[in-house]
Amino acid sequence: MIAVLLGPPGSGKGTQAKRLAPKLQALHLSSGDILRAEKAAGTELGKKATDYMDRGELVPDSLIIEMMLGRMTRERGKSILLDGYPRTLAQAEALDEGLARSGLKIHRVVNIDVPDAEVERRMTGRRSCPTCGAVYHVEFTPPGTAGKCDKDAVDLVQRNDDKPEVVRKRLVTYHHQTQPLVDYYRKCGLLKDVDGIQAPEEVEAKVEAALA
Ligand code: AMP
Repeated sequence: MIAVLLGPPGSGKGTQAKRLAPKLQALHLSSGDILRAEKAAGTELGKKATDYMDRGELVPDSLIIEMMLGRMTRERGKSILLDGYPRTLAQAEALDEGLARSGLKIHRVVNIDVPDAEVERRMTGRRSCPTCGAVYHVEFTPPGTAGKCDKDAVDLVQRNDDKPEVVRKRLVTYHHQTQPLVDYYRKCGLLKDVDGIQAPEEVEAKVEAALA
């Protein structure tokens, strides 16, 4: 099975993919996670991607397509849950072509729908611990002491791309470049919509049903 989770940044795609991948015996492939790992490892790709990511823009298609198709080829034969990729029509077309070359195709695309105001609320409130990676939200899951990690008392930080001006930029980018994929996959008959403004467990149940 090859499935795609679509939705704006902060719609919970990553959370849902992490929860569902083990249940579906699928590999969770997140383009954002792979890029952050490349950045942390200081690779050429990571260096090229950093400025785009920090500005809330998309990393150029050529880099992403090579990175993701390369990764999927190495994982050939596994079920894959894609999160954050594809994000442009060019990426979607390259994915279709890459899969077709291996005799594969996308089985289902689930669009997690969340309005912009809720995305801003979710993303700008997110904080993480630079030491242990624990993630908090100032409103929904605050730490015991404001601004400090519960596990190691280190000062929490805000990811660059969760800063308010970057979140707004990411939403503009999403509406211009990624939202057209909703129609693209709807026309292919692959798309199912899920309301993303519910408790994570409810969204999970609906995404799981949509993928069945
Ligand atoms: P994410 O964690 O999926 O929200 O991705 C974080 C950032 O990585 C995005 O704001 C983009 O700069 C970059 N990125 C992730 N996936 C893609 C993609 N498929 N195409 C272009 N840029 C991407």
